[in-house]
Amino acid sequence: MLSDADFLRYSRQIMLPICGEAGIGKLTSARVMIVGLGGLGTLIAPYLASAGVGHLDLCDDDIVSLSNLPRQWLYQADDINQSKVSVISQRLHTMQPELNITTHQQRLREQNAAELLQGFDLIIDCSDNMTTRQLLNRYAFSTGTPLIIGAAIGLQAQAVAIHPQYCGPGRQAGCYHCLYPIDTLLGGSCQSEGVLGPVVGMAGCYQAALALRVLLGDPQIQWSRLWRLDHGSFTQQMLHIARDPACPVCAATN
Ligand SMILES: [Zn+2]
Repeated sequence: MLSDADFLRYSRQIMLPICGEAGIGKLTSARVMIVGLGGLGTLIAPYLASAGVGHLDLCDDDIVSLSNLPRQWLYQADDINQSKVSVISQRLHTMQPELNITTHQQRLREQNAAELLQGFDLIIDCSDNMTTRQLLNRYAFSTGTPLIIGAAIGLQAQAVAIHPQYCGPGRQAGCYHCLYPIDTLLGGSCQSEGVLGPVVGMAGCYQAALALRVLLGDPQIQWSRLWRLDHGSFTQQMLHIARDPACPVCAATN
């Protein structure tokens, strides 16, 4: 039963058929891991917190630097050299005092992944590298957890939602490793090739909307459908990720 204040606060979400009053309860009890607090994570975390998600884990080993500010605008000049997880944690508590936040000021690696990635309703990749995305994909499958991956570089953005339950043998949908079987396929990075802040924001908004719909149990979610935006040519696509029968990730875990 929602309080009058919460009913008013979440009234625009409650109107949505995919949410309703019961949906706010789902969000309140949801546990979400966000890996990476750059341009994607600093957008997604406040969207989830303000929508009523009750538990957020934030993982990033980095400190705020001057070059972050043009697209990671939750950080301010006064925050430079402070840890990203502590700055974001403070901002989110101001925004949503009832939010439960657990911070992990460490880099996600193979050695700590099993410990860090247990017990979530959803994992969101907001990292800036293919190695982390592939690691998250493997651990999402080993724990059966839905995963949302996003990326942006130059004027291009992409995002996809993957659910281990809908991939693997006997099913058509593939996982992230089916899409990018070799880690070095995407060699570029924002550091080497640059990125426009709003393009990162578009990827982050797409991920945040997907995340809330996943947590609400929206049956219309299209798993393993890659959204790609090229702002240079003003085009976007939705691509089905076909399952690779030889994929060592989704073939081995189903
Ligand atoms: Zn696969």
